[in-house]
Order: sequence, then C-alpha cells, then structure tokens
Amino acid sequence: MQCSHCSREVKETRHTQRGYRVDYYVLHTGQTEWVFLKNPKEDAPSLHYLKLTQPVDIITCVDCCDQPQIRRRLQEELNSLEPTLDKKQTESLKESSEAEANHG
Ligand SMILES: [Zn+2]
Repeated sequence: MQCSHCSREVKETRHTQRGYRVDYYVLHTGQTEWVFLKNPKEDAPSLHYLKLTQPVDIITCVDCCDQPQIRRRLQEELNSLEPTLDKKQTESLKESSEAEANHG
C-alpha cells in the first residue's frame, strides 16, 4: 500500500509494548449522488439517500499528515462530499410552502 500524496510505502499499524504506532490514515471518499426511492404507500414520503457511486480511499502517511497543505486538501475533499440539493428543487419547494401560507 502506498501514500496517495508522496507515494511512499506505508506499513500496517504496529502494536508495541508502549502502545501502537500508526503509519498512515485512510479517508474513505468518492463521488456521491442522491437516490430517490418511491414509497409503495401513496401518502408516505419518498425515501432518498446519498449513494457512494465511486468509492475512493485516500491514504495519507503520517509524514504527509504533518503538512498543512495536505491537511487542507483532505479537508476540501471532505467538504466536497457534503450533499448539495439541486437549486431549482429548493426554490420550488420554497414557493409551494409560501403559496400554502397565503391561502385563506
Ligand atoms: Zn505521504
């Protein structure tokens, strides 16, 4: 196994008398997409969840973990994973709730 940043060989976590030694960290990431499931019951809301379509493991050795620019890159990677709703969808949801409030 290799570090995703500096390509150095990483070792398995070793247990010693004093504790254990970690040589690398793994970040599970990848591309996600919303999946909508129609509920068979008419009045029940449809279910949706984020599905990991292309899983990627980013391996970071302890040397790279000490570098601020690599830590920042990993943080950006995590931020990009956060689900983003379709903007149009959000707007139409807002409009319909406002219309209901004005009714009567
Ligand atoms: Zn590295």
